Amino acid sequence: MKKNEIYETEITGMTHEGAGVCRIDGMAVFVPMTAVGDTLRVRIVKVLKSYAFGIVEELLHPAAGRCEPDCPVFRQCGGCTYRHLTYEAESKIKEQQVRDAFERIGGLHPVFDPILQGESRTGYRNKAQYPVAEQDEHLVCGFYAKHSHRVIPYTRCALQPERFAEVIEWLLPRLEAAGVTAYREETHSGELRHLYLRQGYHSGEMSLCLVVKQSIAEKLQPVLPELQAQFPEIVSITENRNPERTNVILGRKQTTLAGKDTITDTMSGNRVELSPLSFYQVNTSQAERLYAVGREFAALTGNELLLDLYCGAGTIGLSMAHQVRSLIGVEVIPEAVENAKENAARNGIKNAQFHCGDAGEIAKTLRESGTKPDVIVLDPPRKGCDAATIEAVSGMKPERIVMISCNPATAARDCKAFAALGFITERVRAVDLFAGTAHVECVVLMSREK
Ligand code: SAH
Repeated sequence: MKKNEIYETEITGMTHEGAGVCRIDGMAVFVPMTAVGDTLRVRIVKVLKSYAFGIVEELLHPAAGRCEPDCPVFRQCGGCTYRHLTYEAESKIKEQQVRDAFERIGGLHPVFDPILQGESRTGYRNKAQYPVAEQDEHLVCGFYAKHSHRVIPYTRCALQPERFAEVIEWLLPRLEAAGVTAYREETHSGELRHLYLRQGYHSGEMSLCLVVKQSIAEKLQPVLPELQAQFPEIVSITENRNPERTNVILGRKQTTLAGKDTITDTMSGNRVELSPLSFYQVNTSQAERLYAVGREFAALTGNELLLDLYCGAGTIGLSMAHQVRSLIGVEVIPEAVENAKENAARNGIKNAQFHCGDAGEIAKTLRESGTKPDVIVLDPPRKGCDAATIEAVSGMKPERIVMISCNPATAARDCKAFAALGFITERVRAVDLFAGTAHVECVVLMSREK
């Protein structure tokens, strides 16, 4: 097989990243933006030892479930994966992806509840971070082209609320007129790196954070009052200074230029304050449904001691605080622990305490001090739990473990480890927080073998 050769073939499978897979001369060829059942002519673009990559040269017969992408930049942008498919077709793929992970990686056969779909495939995100660049002597912002840091100017991302685009389109020419320059990665020069917007789903409060290499506060002085008059929902304008040569968007230095330091929102009925630095699920209504599935699996009666590991700002545990005797949250980021404590206090929750540190280490300490949680919630990052955490958690002999995970593969791996320690994976439910993209979340119920 050689580059630029064209083959007629059929897509027979799908990777977890959302690329279609076909077999040509015994080789797996990955073709993005296709669907199982497509017959097509594929142009080979890259050949490696045991697999290759292709692109669609001509679609001969489209599979069921295809639709016209509702975004003009779908092909260039790395954000969405499934906009060429109906939401039904996308949901089936994600449901199967979660099932495959537990059956193949975990060797587990729990009950799979049907996927919980998002309310909408558009406008559901509460947060956007637009990279800024200079093109043809103008400030532009949009998104990075696939596998690159070239900015494609485009503000009307289908995943974001339309209001975000209105703010950006109003703001950019005024920043330019005020003499603000775009940051340039190659030379580490210029000022403005990203425009970062967040909006409370329930409150409507919006924050604008300008991520800069060095302060542009003075240049912004004439622009800000006009911005606030134009967009009264922007109640917090901050500047985040990130002077490093790095891919990480935010730096540590945060100053408030106008309005409040934070915005307020409610999550599962609890009031939360969000600084631009706080972790917060990007799809609020669907996160609330995710946590509701977690509560259903936890089956709390009011008498339990609940341990919430990887608790972030405490949103999951706090949503269950009224249904337990007491709650202990554990989180490694000190600011998030502070937020969790504040969120508890603000909502009059008095039966919660929070510890800052590594989940495994704190769980081990709790276990050694005789703490016996009835239910343990685990919401680890993509890489999953480490062996020490699994060991300490199982050693506390909880009745139930509820795992919430944004990575079905590591969740299945960890559930297999728990199975060897006497915990049965009973139920798994996929929850789609990221409609249109390749990501899917799942909730798992494990119970201790009697
Ligand atoms: N449960 C929260 C946050 C989930 S994200 C929510 O739903 O909003 C995962 C969290 O795990 C992050 O807050 C991250 O800071 C934290 N984390 C990552 N590694 C950790 C570790 N080793 N020990 C404790 N917390 C960790």
